[in-house]
Amino acid sequence: MKLILLGAPGAGKGSQATKIANKYGIAHISTGDALRANIKNGTELGKYAKSFIDKGQLVPDEVVVGIVADRIKEDDCKNGFLLDGFPRTIAQAEALAKLTDVDYVINIDVNFDLVTARIAGRRMCACGESYHVSTYDSDVCAKCGSPLYQRADDKEETVKERLSVYEKQTAPLVDYYRATGKLIDVDGNKTIDEVFAIIVGILDGNR
Ligand code: AMP
Repeated sequence: MKLILLGAPGAGKGSQATKIANKYGIAHISTGDALRANIKNGTELGKYAKSFIDKGQLVPDEVVVGIVADRIKEDDCKNGFLLDGFPRTIAQAEALAKLTDVDYVINIDVNFDLVTARIAGRRMCACGESYHVSTYDSDVCAKCGSPLYQRADDKEETVKERLSVYEKQTAPLVDYYRATGKLIDVDGNKTIDEVFAIIVGILDGNR
């Protein structure tokens, strides 16, 4: 199964991606995580990407397309994969279409007020877990015990820019994929477990 998860920043792509990848035994590919790993390891690619990420802008297409092109060739993608946060532009979608086909594109639809509140309260762990201050009352990770932190690009001004970038550059992908007949719309204004149950119901129903 090859899936794409579409949705605005804070729509819950990362939370759903982890659960979907676990359930179906497919690789979870997050371009955001890959870029943050490069930043953490101090690579040239990381230094270059950071200048865009910190401003809330998109990293140039060729950088993320290169990451995905290499990643989907790896062994753990043989059963399929789920792309989380890629593609984010029509050019990326066209590049992806040349690399591989996909079965479904899940569009997690959320209202922007909710997204802003979700991002403001989001706390991350280096191990990849994420939490929300409204439901998790600790500053260390429940899974690995490391201290939680707020992503630099989760600060208010940067979030505004990311939402505006989403509207201009990424939202057109909804119509792009709708035209392929592969788009599945999901109401993302519900809880993580409710949204997950809807997605599983649709994927299992379609198989
Ligand atoms: P995310 O973790 O998916 O929210 O991504 C964090 C940041 O990484 C984004 O705001 C972009 O700056 C960059 N990024 C992640 N994926 C992409 C992509 N497919 N295209 C361009 N930039 C990306």
